[in-house]
Amino acid sequence: MYDSTHENVVTKSESPGEKSVVLTFDDGPSRLLPKFLDVLKKENVPAVFFWQTRLLHPKRPWQRVLDEGHMIGSHTVKHRNLVELTQEEQYKDIKNSIATIEHITGSSVRFFRPPYGQFNADTLEVTERLNVTPVMWKIASMDWELKTDPEQLIANVTEHLEDGAVILLHELPQTLEALPGLISAIKERGYGFKLL
Ligand SMILES: [Zn+2]
Repeated sequence: MYDSTHENVVTKSESPGEKSVVLTFDDGPSRLLPKFLDVLKKENVPAVFFWQTRLLHPKRPWQRVLDEGHMIGSHTVKHRNLVELTQEEQYKDIKNSIATIEHITGSSVRFFRPPYGQFNADTLEVTERLNVTPVMWKIASMDWELKTDPEQLIANVTEHLEDGAVILLHELPQTLEALPGLISAIKERGYGFKLL
């Protein structure tokens, strides 16, 4: 099994520079997306959205995502675990998801996040063939486990802040609830926000 420590995956901003972190939201586009965008706009924070393209209906507000300075990456078509697929199956899945995003939005896809954070040597060959960079994370908010305790995700993130860190979040209700507090807590510690 491969993980975040592999040299060919990104876990930090490629040009960290000043004190800043990268917010990433997986598993959308969800019905909550407009509300996530409202918070990010109010706080003037850019983010990266890794989407399962089975959910990318043309009427989802992808135009708003791009207009408001965010980035859209691939999170496969329907979130299958890549390590259970052959290289050719992985290739088709990732290629289709990229093609869907590019066809609907007209914007090119440069980044990819493997479902469950699981990938193997075939995945790395495929992403190289498709010219996308695999992105893992430096800080997992564990938001998916915090349905009844959204505030805990703020602590999970702020305790591990470092320059350039990619932060794993999801388009979940508890994440939305904690997001304004999370952004404030990160800003209070002197960090800004950037894209990959
Ligand atoms: Zn996911």
